Amino acid sequence: MTTKVSDKSSIICSFCESPQTELDFLVEGNNAFICDVCIDKASNAIQTNHKNKKNDFSSKKLLKPKQITAKLDKYVIGQNNAKKTLSVAVYNHYKRILNNTSSDINIDKSNILLVGPTGTGKTLLAKTLAFVLEIPFAIVDATVLTEAGYVGEDVENVLVRLYHEANYDLNKTQRGIIYIDEIDKIARKSSNPSITRDVSGEGVQQSLLKIIEGTVANIPPQGGRKHPDQPLIKVDTSNILFICGGTFDGIEDVIDRRLKGGGIGFDRKSPSIVNKYASLSNIKVEDIIKYGFLPELVGRLPVISYLNYLDKDALYKILIEPVNSLINQYIELFKFDNVKLVFKEEALQYIVELAVERKTGARALRSILEEIMLDIMYEIPSDKTIESCIITKNVITKKSNPEITFYKKTA
Ligand code: ADP
Repeated sequence: MTTKVSDKSSIICSFCESPQTELDFLVEGNNAFICDVCIDKASNAIQTNHKNKKNDFSSKKLLKPKQITAKLDKYVIGQNNAKKTLSVAVYNHYKRILNNTSSDINIDKSNILLVGPTGTGKTLLAKTLAFVLEIPFAIVDATVLTEAGYVGEDVENVLVRLYHEANYDLNKTQRGIIYIDEIDKIARKSSNPSITRDVSGEGVQQSLLKIIEGTVANIPPQGGRKHPDQPLIKVDTSNILFICGGTFDGIEDVIDRRLKGGGIGFDRKSPSIVNKYASLSNIKVEDIIKYGFLPELVGRLPVISYLNYLDKDALYKILIEPVNSLINQYIELFKFDNVKLVFKEEALQYIVELAVERKTGARALRSILEEIMLDIMYEIPSDKTIESCIITKNVITKKSNPEITFYKKTA
C-alpha cells in the first residue's frame, strides 16, 4: 500500500535522496520512498522501453512455419504448397533480419514468386500473411509501373504505398511486405532482348530489380513525382519482403517444352495433356526467364511457388468455411435488419457449379452471389416484419423468390 508521507522530517527519496522537505510528493513503499520527480522519470523510461520493444523485432515471438500455416488455414482454403513455401520463406526472412545483427554470415533475402490462375488466392495469401504477422502490407499492380521518367508510376512509389500503410513509421516500413500483382504483365514482349527498348517491360524489370534486392531509395513521402524542393525520405529496402504474383498465362507450354526436352518421341505425353495442374507444379526458374524475365530479376525471387486451380470442393469450402466467408458476410449484412438469412445446401452446390463454369476462380463466387442477392437486398430492409429469408436453388435460377417467414404479431 502507498501513502502520502508528510510527518517525518528525516525522510528522503530512496532514489534521488532529496529530503522530503524539498519535495511536493513522496510515496511510501516497503521500507523505501519515491518522489514525484523519480516517478516521472521511471514512467518515461518504461514508456520508451515499451516503444522500443514494439519496434524491436527480436523481442517478438517468432511464429514457426507450422504456426504460420495454421493461421493461414483459417482464411485461405487449400493451396498447401504455397502456404508451406510462404511460411518457410517468411520465417527465414525474419531469422535473416535477426541474424544480421549478430553474425557475419549474410543470409540472402527470400523474396517470393507466386504463379497461379486468377482468383485462386495469391493476393489473399500475401494479405493474410501480413495480417497474421502484424506487419505493414502494400499491394501494387505491376501494370501501372514504368521506368522513372516515363508516364505512369515510378517504381519507387511502391515504397511510398508501404510507408503510408505503416502510418509513416520508417522502422515498420523497412520490415513490411510488398505484394506486386500481375508481375507477368511486365514480361519482355519480344523474344530478342536487344531489338528495342521496352518501356513497359524490361525497363520496369530493371527498376524493380534494385528495390527488390535491397537499396536505399529516396521517396517523396506524399508520393507522386519527385519534386526538386520536396523533402525526400530514405527507405532501406533490404529487409522488405517482396512477394510477386502473376497468372503467367501460357507458361504451361514453356514448362512442357522444357520437360519434353524438344524431343519428338511418339510416346512422350505432354504433361499439359495428361494433367494441366501437374504442369504448373514443375515450374522452374528457367521457365520464368523463358517467359520474358531478366535472369537477374528472377534471381532476386529465389522462392517460387504455384497455386492450384480451385476445384468444386475448394470453391464450396471457400463459400462457407473461412472466418469471413462470403456466406458469413451476407448473413452478417442481413443481421443488421434483424433477418435470418439461410442458404439451402442445394443452392450452395449450384452456386459452386456456376462458379466452376466461369473459370475465374473464387472471384466468380462473389459475382454470382452479388447477382442473386441484389434484388433481395433491395427489398428486404423495407419490411420490418420479415424474420427469415431462405435461398433455394430456384432463387438462383430465378424461377422463384426466396422463402420468407414473418415475425409473429404480438397482441
Ligand atoms: P488472385 O489469385 O487473382 O490474386 P485473390 O487472392 O485476389 O486472387 O482472390 C480473389 C478473392 O477470392 C479473394 O478475396 C477471396 O475472397 C477469394 N479466394 C480466392 N482464393 C481463395 C482461397 N484459396 N481461399 C479462400 N478464399 C479465396
